[in-house]
Amino acid sequence: MTNDNEQVTVKCSFCGRTGTEVQSMVAGPDVYICDKCVKSSVDILKENIAAYKNDSVDQAILTPDTIHGKLNEHIIGQDHAKKVLSVAVYNHYKRINASSSFFELDDVEIEKSNILLAGPTGVGKTLIAQTLARILDVPFAIADATTLTEAGYVGDDVETILVRLLQASEYNLEKAQKGIIYIDEIDKIARKSESASITRDVSGEGVQQALLKIIEGTVAGVPPKGGRKHPEQNLININTKNILFVVGGAFDGLEPIIASRINQNVMGFDSELEEVKHHYSEDEILQQVQPDDMVKYGLIPELVGRLPMIASLKPLDKESMLRILTEPKNAIIKQFKKLFMMEGVELEFEEKALKLIVKKAMERKTGARALRSIVESTLLDIMYDLPSKRNIEKCLITEKTVQSGEEPVYLESEKKSA
Ligand code: ADP
Repeated sequence: MTNDNEQVTVKCSFCGRTGTEVQSMVAGPDVYICDKCVKSSVDILKENIAAYKNDSVDQAILTPDTIHGKLNEHIIGQDHAKKVLSVAVYNHYKRINASSSFFELDDVEIEKSNILLAGPTGVGKTLIAQTLARILDVPFAIADATTLTEAGYVGDDVETILVRLLQASEYNLEKAQKGIIYIDEIDKIARKSESASITRDVSGEGVQQALLKIIEGTVAGVPPKGGRKHPEQNLININTKNILFVVGGAFDGLEPIIASRINQNVMGFDSELEEVKHHYSEDEILQQVQPDDMVKYGLIPELVGRLPMIASLKPLDKESMLRILTEPKNAIIKQFKKLFMMEGVELEFEEKALKLIVKKAMERKTGARALRSIVESTLLDIMYDLPSKRNIEKCLITEKTVQSGEEPVYLESEKKSA
């Protein structure tokens, strides 16, 4: 604030009014600002915040329920996982936007929430991560944890994952740095026991350490074409701070670990599981998974700390498998119907035939993954013959076609055969 004598000579550094023309003047080192200019500055800032808010909507940070809705078009069931992911992804991209805006000015830094998906093979873990990337229109890459090694060992360096993301974004570094990476089979690099210090489990723990670095955020120099780094090679620096990591695994044997945490009163491993099973179904036990359980399973605590969102996916039951065959946007049966349609033939399946496909797939214990190969092998001979059969209008796949390869029911077109 200024005193009376100063008021006459002091001028607002913004609008030039003197102290007598305004109500009040704030002084900084060699600068002054009048109450009028403070007020208009506040208005401008308010407008900027409003514009930021609108912007962020325009930049399509889809709301969690919109993301969930879009996931529903492709993924059957797994509602809990879809919900967890919708929220995590919404927050993730909000956080990225905040760091390039106004909200960066305060000192609350929002940490990244990477995601851990636990569930048996073929139940949709990869599909969910991949579908998310498609919904958000960001590049996506998949890696298999079992093929990764620490730098210097034979196998893929952890950084090759980043090369794949860079390739998926057609070498657009900015896009790559906001992409999604799915790392499968993370459970296979767990250390063998929580206190495995005597016989150090080099492969597993070393890879976990290497993964930790890129997951928590680092600038990694990667050779643009992949492969090993060579001296004097040009490297591309990728900042992994805003890359969303989704890691997945089957985590066989996780259930007793969760059960023993839930029920600490009962002694003995098997009895704990049995006791807990009286109260909860298997799914309900897995749903209660917590970070500590993952550490017990053999993931290093630092890595678990960087994967704060954990969701478990359920094994698929008969009904879900049947829906997967026919319902999703890209359902297997829809794909084959389209292929047949291109041949001018309408493809139909008897309900019993679909049920038998599901039954056969369930026996293979590879989740929905088996569905496609069973449909493929059922239709192989038909697809071989069809292009040379001229007058077929409709092809009905019966239970026996699936069971023993019996011919489907063909409906011939009168016009064509005439
Ligand atoms: P994983 O859980 O082993 O990562 P994937 O996501 O790779 O399994 O699933 C394998 C295939 O099975 C997918 O490509 C998809 O066609 C089908 N599938 C699995 N789960 C679902 C699901 N919940 N909804 C729709 N399709 C699914």
